Amino acid sequence: MIRAYNLFRSRASMANSMLRAGPAAATQKRFLSIHEYLSMGMLNKFGIDTPKFIPAKTPEEAYEAAKKFNGEPVVIKAQVLAGGRGKGHFDNGLQGGVHLVKTPEEVRDFAKKMIGSKLITKQTGADGRICNAVMVAEARAPAHEYYAAILNDRVTQLPVLITSNQGGMSIEEVAKENPDAIITTPIDYTKGLDLKAAEEVAHKLGFSSPKLEKEAAETFVNLYKLFDQKDATQVEINPLVETKDGAVLCLDAKLGFDDNADFRQEDVFKLRDTTQEDASEVEAGKYGLNFIKLDGNIGCLVNGAGLAMATLDVLSLKGGKPANFLDVGGGANAAAVKKAFELLLQSKDVRAIFVNIFGGIMRCDVIAEGIIQATKELQLTIPLVVRLQGTKEAEAKELIKNSGLKIFAYDHLDEAAQAAVQKAETQQ
Ligand code: GDP
Ligand code: MN
Repeated sequence: MIRAYNLFRSRASMANSMLRAGPAAATQKRFLSIHEYLSMGMLNKFGIDTPKFIPAKTPEEAYEAAKKFNGEPVVIKAQVLAGGRGKGHFDNGLQGGVHLVKTPEEVRDFAKKMIGSKLITKQTGADGRICNAVMVAEARAPAHEYYAAILNDRVTQLPVLITSNQGGMSIEEVAKENPDAIITTPIDYTKGLDLKAAEEVAHKLGFSSPKLEKEAAETFVNLYKLFDQKDATQVEINPLVETKDGAVLCLDAKLGFDDNADFRQEDVFKLRDTTQEDASEVEAGKYGLNFIKLDGNIGCLVNGAGLAMATLDVLSLKGGKPANFLDVGGGANAAAVKKAFELLLQSKDVRAIFVNIFGGIMRCDVIAEGIIQATKELQLTIPLVVRLQGTKEAEAKELIKNSGLKIFAYDHLDEAAQAAVQKAETQQ
């Protein structure tokens, strides 16, 4: 499946957006994200150290989990797929998605407030994301916080190890205010990350003993192994810490995986948690529709990712703003087209709908039937601009004409886009 539409995703991860500053800043690959407790489990399998942790789905489970730490202080962390949890807040007023706590009773109280509530962070948007689980982990006292990530770099066209001795905070800010504090090390993917190179990085970062330097270097090497073997697009550890008692540990982990590798990473992809995704995007996926919400007011329905991108570009050129990306693909039937309309109409901002179909494998008459059915059943009240060309075009036009519905049909993309923009502007 073509993934070009991913270019429109705006929810850039910190690390990716940092690497992609400049002209390519709008680009963002879609990937699977998994919860921190699952990420940590995976790190451990690759020989990478983390604090001991136990996930919990209820306050009682969290309480029982906390008791297993034998009176040692623990941290309770909201399991929500977004960065910036520490500084976030819940919709019920609770500040912070990460708390240092002393007793199992306190853990239970925090879990009560966290589970079932939404956490809002600077990465979730105003709606926030539902917290369905927490992680209870042993608290470790950091002597210093570092940053480490493995990403694909489009400049060198290689995976890179990115590190900084200014971890714990937003890496974008470090990149902006103190770019020299970031070390970027390209990795030869035919050989993996060389231990010597990793040791040099660890030395520059300034771990406090040769032993810790060695441990950090081994961590970097293993992070790359995970990245490579699991088809990851991102491995981000922030913070990676040197603890006061002399250990190198990952206190946080954000892993992303390439959607195109789902067929060979079944064990990873079954860890997907759709409660953390946009409900309409998940719904679209069930109908084979590639749907991504954007923030404009023209609902778009297009076949083919390339044409969909071109459509968004032309709308933008005409001064309009697309409300979504929607590729119905080559095999959509009338029911899928109707579903597509439903998804478009779910957005309150949509002021006009623009259908742009190039009939190849997809027959224009099938789309026309879907449009007519959807327009009638959904009692469409906003203007509908349609441009259909290609296979069964004449039949499609006939169907639309005979439907008696107020559908604005055009032959050319340019004039159709112009009309959609103009109608969206004038529609209240
Ligand atoms: P994020 O805000 O989503 O990135 O969540 P993190 O897991 O990074 O937690 C936020 C911050 O809490 C970290 O940057 C650490 O400073 C702190 N933190 C996390 N775990 C521990 C811990 O075990 N001990 C201490 N002292 N601080 C921790
Ligand atoms: Mn973090």
